[in-house]
Amino acid sequence: MGSSGNFFVAGNWKSNGTKESVSKLVKELNSSKFPSDVDVIVAPTFVHLPYVVDNIDSRYQVSAQNCWVGKAGAYTGEVAPEHLLDLGLQWVILGHSERRSLLKESNEFVGDKTANALAQGMKVIACIGETLEQRESGQMYNVLDGQLSGIADRIADWENVVVAYEPVWAIGTGKVATPDQAQEVHAYIRKWLADKVLPKVSGATRIIYGGSVNDKNSAELAGKEDVDGFLVGGASLQAASFATICNANAKVAA
Ligand code: PEP
Repeated sequence: MGSSGNFFVAGNWKSNGTKESVSKLVKELNSSKFPSDVDVIVAPTFVHLPYVVDNIDSRYQVSAQNCWVGKAGAYTGEVAPEHLLDLGLQWVILGHSERRSLLKESNEFVGDKTANALAQGMKVIACIGETLEQRESGQMYNVLDGQLSGIADRIADWENVVVAYEPVWAIGTGKVATPDQAQEVHAYIRKWLADKVLPKVSGATRIIYGGSVNDKNSAELAGKEDVDGFLVGGASLQAASFATICNANAKVAA
């Protein structure tokens, strides 16, 4: 833990689930145990949000996986922060690499969406991360700088932002970053926030790691100084694995 906030674990269910599987997962999550000082968030698809909000235990917070860049209105197919707030949600994941690559979301667009969601009263899990090609060609820090600047140029207050470092080569591949690789980049992001935003923001902002986190590797990653939690994809669909990940920091502290 390098930040002053609670350990933070978010499960990104991506475009997965049926009414039946979501109801089973919620039931299992409701009987999972984790320390009360861990912030645990689940992010179902838009269509499953109302069910999850109504049925998940209040120890969990619920997040959307995306939202519109402006106010509600004539934007066919889009879901605005107002809709999410109306459902009782506080959180939204923005800038996930799948959206950056498949839907060509630029750094500027992700920054605009972050600013809009924050201005409307939401909290944002803002994702950044490099591809393998960018890492291997020495572009990693330039890429991260651009992604961070896209956000920092558009927001003044970081209180409701969690930064998720998700190396693209580790997402859904089973190829997790080593704890040292994760720590190196998390420390870089923390220094970037101190230098380019404010030391106070650097000390308070949770920087979480995502990319093939599971019940076997989470405790070692959580032991790294600047790893303040996780954004979990695949393993968040298995309640038992997700519960172990939610307990990863307690295991380190024990
Ligand atoms: C993610 O998509 O945010 C993610 C980290 O996925 P996975 O855990 O499956 O690699």
